[in-house]
Amino acid sequence: MRVVLLGPPGAGKGTQAQFIAGRLAVPAISTGDIFRANVSGQTELGLKAKVFMDAGDLVPDEVTVAMVKDRLAEPDAKAGFLLDGFPRTIAQAEQLAESLADLGHGLDRVLELVVEEEELVRRLSGRRMLVDGQMVQRDDDKPETVRHRLEVYREQTAPLSGFYERVGLLSQIEAIGSVEEVTARALRALGVDPEDPDTSAAPADA
Ligand code: ADP
Repeated sequence: MRVVLLGPPGAGKGTQAQFIAGRLAVPAISTGDIFRANVSGQTELGLKAKVFMDAGDLVPDEVTVAMVKDRLAEPDAKAGFLLDGFPRTIAQAEQLAESLADLGHGLDRVLELVVEEEELVRRLSGRRMLVDGQMVQRDDDKPETVRHRLEVYREQTAPLSGFYERVGLLSQIEAIGSVEEVTARALRALGVDPEDPDTSAAPADA
């Protein structure tokens, strides 16, 4: 199954991506994680991306699209994938559709995690991650950057919701409640029975 997970910063995409991808037996591919790994490794890509990430801006499409194309060409993504954090602009969505069409594929579903903005700000400002045994705040989770990331989301990424709705791929779920509840909702939206580990994943509209 080829799935895109859409949703604002703080919606819980990363957490849900792990659970959903595990259940679908496909790799979870997070552009944010790939960028952060490159920043830590001080690669050329990381150095390019860091300036934009620290400001809460999007890394330019040409950098991001090339990176995702390479990742989708790896053997583990051949039979399916769950994309987390990509596409984030209409241009990225168009290029993704093109790359998949070249391979003779298309997306099966786009799942949008819906959370109201007040809750997002609350979650992001309290968020910490484990780095070298210590709980630290991501540089881009500082309050001023959080506000800017939400603005960028509203302007550049939120239009993807309508874009995918028009082509009949969009399913929206409320990303409020426990992690398990949201995962179960997500799986149901993908046509997978959360209770039955043997149900094979099928597109929700099949
Ligand atoms: P969040 O969803 O919490 O904002 P991510 O980990 O998905 O965080 O992304 C962190 C940062 O990485 C973004 O603010 C942006 O700078 C960069 N980034 C991630 N994915 C993309 C993308 N598809 N296009 C451009 N920039 C991206």
